[in-house]
Amino acid sequence: MPIATVNPATGETLRTFRPHGPDEVEERIAAADRAFRHHRTTGFDERAALLRRAADLLEQDVPDIARTVTTEMGKPLAAARAEAAKCVRAMRWYAANAEALLADEEPADGDVRDSGAAVARVRYRPLGPVLAVMPWNFPLWQVVRFAAPALMAGNTGLLKHASNVPQTALYLEDLFRRAGYPEGVFQTLLTGSDAVEGVLRDPRVAAATLTGSEGAGRSVAAVAGDEVKKTVLELGGSDPYLVLPSADIEGAAATAVTARTQNNGQSCIAAKRFIVHADVYDDFVERFTARMAALRVGDPMDESTDVGPLASERGRADLEELVEDAVERGAEARCGGRRPEGLDRGWYYEPTVLTGVTPEMRIHREEAFGPVAAVYRAGDLDEALEIANDSPFGLSSNVWTRDESEIERCARDLEAGGVYVNGMTASHPALPFGGVKRSGYGRELSGHGIKEFCNATTVWRA
Ligand code: NAP
Repeated sequence: MPIATVNPATGETLRTFRPHGPDEVEERIAAADRAFRHHRTTGFDERAALLRRAADLLEQDVPDIARTVTTEMGKPLAAARAEAAKCVRAMRWYAANAEALLADEEPADGDVRDSGAAVARVRYRPLGPVLAVMPWNFPLWQVVRFAAPALMAGNTGLLKHASNVPQTALYLEDLFRRAGYPEGVFQTLLTGSDAVEGVLRDPRVAAATLTGSEGAGRSVAAVAGDEVKKTVLELGGSDPYLVLPSADIEGAAATAVTARTQNNGQSCIAAKRFIVHADVYDDFVERFTARMAALRVGDPMDESTDVGPLASERGRADLEELVEDAVERGAEARCGGRRPEGLDRGWYYEPTVLTGVTPEMRIHREEAFGPVAAVYRAGDLDEALEIANDSPFGLSSNVWTRDESEIERCARDLEAGGVYVNGMTASHPALPFGGVKRSGYGRELSGHGIKEFCNATTVWRA
């Protein structure tokens, strides 16, 4: 894949970039290693001051960087601004909380006395340079979600961003440099995915985190496994969204539209499979379809646009194939199911509601990365849970109900890294984020996230 900015709203190539060659990659790994030796010894106050400065700069840059993001990957401008603002909040949150999250832990005396210890504690020490392989869909947030905790813990970061967001990748490197981070603490590797294996096998690189597709995750995990290096994988999702009879159906339908179409439908934690109890099925489908059909598809730079283009031509073709397969096998497109008229230049696709989805259809098992909703009818909660869990993915999940016993049942039985009740999945710095099954392993955000790239060191004294 060329490293280039190609505007998804027009298909026009705006800028191409020469990838870093082996010498430049080597220089950056060496710099990350050198920087780690110093950065690991700095105190939390110093690290927090740097991260706060980066947050302040990003806050000032929101209007400009939002335009760059929209130009590179096509999300509506307001969503790009919201993404940048969310990064600012997460940076400030980790600046404020990292020290407490990584404070030494001391088991109660009695618990370790029989080990012969006068004192025993756990100290969280950084691992070293961490390679971050990141996707284009939230090109600021995915990186900050890794970098804020990793740098606060004392690690250094090497970003290999998706090839279609090079300007955003270079912006992030520049942001940390302008904030005053010493050379090498956070760098961008402008390379294709073919360079990832070499970087990961370098002995100076301690660990890797990857957010992206299952295939990319599998390759990185295989190499990391071979090198016995720690990885965190945040992969795809096909989150279920259960609507049960006691739910606020209007609220469920309105939120379902946001959940399915945020980021032009290209979000790992978007609700993708809508599993509706038979008693409220017709009511929900009618409201949901009406709202999906009413969305404005168009230029993402236009403030009135709800849904912009997909990020790539290939992405739209993949989505079209999933819809065609479902319709051929008997699903019905209640709205959408095609490219919008009059928007021929970009990679647009109409918000689509498919009913009558069955397990034989590809969309039942594969991730629909675009504004396409698969709707199922379930006779009762047992059947709804069965459909929900009949997926290779397990990122997050949603349920709408006012019944406490149903809430408890879903919190116990939905196979996912999150269960969101009467709302949609959204990440928050204080809450762990990640999945099970083919959605990956490890957690980002919260205390769980910051400890992923730490060495929990036992310090024992006789
Ligand atoms: P992708 O093709 O897997 O790309 C993600 C990153 O991995 C890019 O930097 C890409 O580089 C790199 N990559 C691709 N193949 C690789 C390989 N074999 N070895 C090493 N690196 C490789 O994914 P995408 O299409 O950009 O993103 C969409 C996917 O990400 C969806 O499945 C989505 O659900 C998932 N996602 C998950 C989360 C989460 O938190 N769980 C969040 C957002 C997105 P190039 O661009 O150079 O190919």
